Amino acid sequence: MLNIEIIPCLNDNYSYLLCDQDTNTVAIIDPSDFNPCDKIINKKYKKLDYILNTHHHFDHVGGNKKLKEKYKSKVLGCELDKDRIPDIDITLKEKQNFKIGNASFEVIFIPGHTKGHIAFYFKDEKIVFTGDTLFSLGCGKVFEGTHEQMFNSLNKLKNLPIDTKIYCGHEYTKKNLEFCLEYESNNEFLIEKSNWINSKIESNSPTVPISIGEEKKTNIFLRCNEPSIKNALNLDNASEQEIFSKLRDLKDSF
Ligand code: ZN
Ligand code: FE
Repeated sequence: MLNIEIIPCLNDNYSYLLCDQDTNTVAIIDPSDFNPCDKIINKKYKKLDYILNTHHHFDHVGGNKKLKEKYKSKVLGCELDKDRIPDIDITLKEKQNFKIGNASFEVIFIPGHTKGHIAFYFKDEKIVFTGDTLFSLGCGKVFEGTHEQMFNSLNKLKNLPIDTKIYCGHEYTKKNLEFCLEYESNNEFLIEKSNWINSKIESNSPTVPISIGEEKKTNIFLRCNEPSIKNALNLDNASEQEIFSKLRDLKDSF
């Protein structure tokens, strides 16, 4: 069984501490910052076998160096980022499988936010770590790739089984909710979810994980083929991908 602990880091980042309990193998996803991560590792396990990075941005790899020094961990990341993920030991490519003890994940290559962005998909556990590509009710900014790449990457995630749980890199849900409502104010699922999100945020609790199924009903970036959304944008005849690009641009200045 895979145990998962959410570690809030920096302003709004989430790092995730994983432990395969059968083998006592411990891994961390995107350690933003040494101190909060070390505090929990030290308290719970006193070891860290692997550091997994979804992409090279500082707020996802900031704790790599010191954690590796202290726990002699192995650092994993995309082969395209072998020169920019600090202290990387093992490079990963699309569809590659890797084991954290008895729990195995598949690498899903999802460029767009950065050129070497990957997700970690634990198929048996029905869990995916999506970094800065798919957020609750949103998606990451397109920094290094193209809108087309980001659209295709989101589609890969959208096609996972609907009961897959998503653990993303940031707590952006409240702001994302406002954006979704702006262009889909009549979405019942979204309206229903607003109360839940607001109560989570008020009590300072994470709004993750969410499921692929929920996101397909509420996340506007996964709903670019909806006629009502096309209409709200005055782009009734646009393609799904054109709608995505338009929404991504609008979100950048929202
Ligand atoms: Zn990032
Ligand atoms: Fe980030």
